Amino acid sequence: MTTSASRTSEDAIPAGQPDGTVTDRLVKANTRYADAFTDPGMDARPVLNVAVVACMDARLDLHSALGLELGDCHTIRNAGGVVTDDVIRSLTISQRALGTRSVVLIHHTNCGLESLTEEFRHELELEVGQRPSWAVEGFQDVDQDVRQSIQKVRTSPFLPHTDDVRGFVFDVHTGLLREVLPR
Ligand SMILES: [Zn+2]
Repeated sequence: MTTSASRTSEDAIPAGQPDGTVTDRLVKANTRYADAFTDPGMDARPVLNVAVVACMDARLDLHSALGLELGDCHTIRNAGGVVTDDVIRSLTISQRALGTRSVVLIHHTNCGLESLTEEFRHELELEVGQRPSWAVEGFQDVDQDVRQSIQKVRTSPFLPHTDDVRGFVFDVHTGLLREVLPR
């Protein structure tokens, strides 16, 4: 995907890569992480009984932005933070097998999905000769997309807990969440 967001993050990778690939760098960081890591002995069930569905955007640090600690929540992320069938799959497992009861939906300002339409799928088909089975899920009005996401979660027949579902837009410039109320 060549959205402006992905171009920006590619530009941010230092040229030269003296320590190998980006993945090599991540693996090296992991050895330092593991050195300092002590097993908290946690259960897989999220402590706060909450699942957060958010965009994969690199500027959105969910744990810092929401004051979350290790083990507090499930985080389910994809391009746009849209409620796809696969997000419903994860939420269903989160609620039915791992005890979460609340759902927090987070979209954000300047999302790459705002500039994409289903035309993206058509262009893909022309390029590779195969039409993707998935929808692009692009949107023009972020508030409306949050409302639609809330509605999709609330009306899912698979989810036993739909009374505490709230949606927000994260401002990538101020770090603040703004709640979107369902109509
Ligand atoms: Zn986004």
